[in-house]
Amino acid sequence: MKAMSQTSDKANAARNAKSLEVPVAALLAKPGECRQLSDTVNIGKLATSTVSITGQSCDMELTLEALTSGEVMVWGELKAPWQGECRRCLQPVDGELEVKVKELFERNPTEGETYLLSDDTIHLAQMICEALLLNLPLAPLCSVGCQGPDPKSFAVRQAGVASSDHTKDKDPRWAALDELVFDSPTSE
Ligand SMILES: [Zn+2]
Repeated sequence: MKAMSQTSDKANAARNAKSLEVPVAALLAKPGECRQLSDTVNIGKLATSTVSITGQSCDMELTLEALTSGEVMVWGELKAPWQGECRRCLQPVDGELEVKVKELFERNPTEGETYLLSDDTIHLAQMICEALLLNLPLAPLCSVGCQGPDPKSFAVRQAGVASSDHTKDKDPRWAALDELVFDSPTSE
């Protein structure tokens, strides 16, 4: 059973990887020409600590241009749905990421600047994963005004009402005591 599922996982992985490898021999034979590439591709599991790409899927609308120098310029837009947890109330949040890309594919890519073109094929996986990861929200909120599960504990400071309402009636003689209590964690 285990061997079979591993085999099919490998087959799936190979198929998914292949869809992100685009042959460009015909394009490179006509420098200056462009080719459109529209597809929904499986990008595998892609997640940060707070957010993941839903369904491992990404829509791409790309233009591939053969440069006279033998490289391929790729530009266009990536779209991918994401899901995560609101950083204040921990309720599920989702959204759609739209990322504009413009990248150069060449035979001897420069790490962090250009991407790999080898065997007359451009390898899109790394570009797509990096573009999506860099643009996923770091700390998503379910709404701008989310006050968390307990608004008293997770109060959102608002201009003009800054935490004065619950201190103004207190006897000023207790202020020092308040500070002491506030500064000592109750867990100790
Ligand atoms: Zn929330």
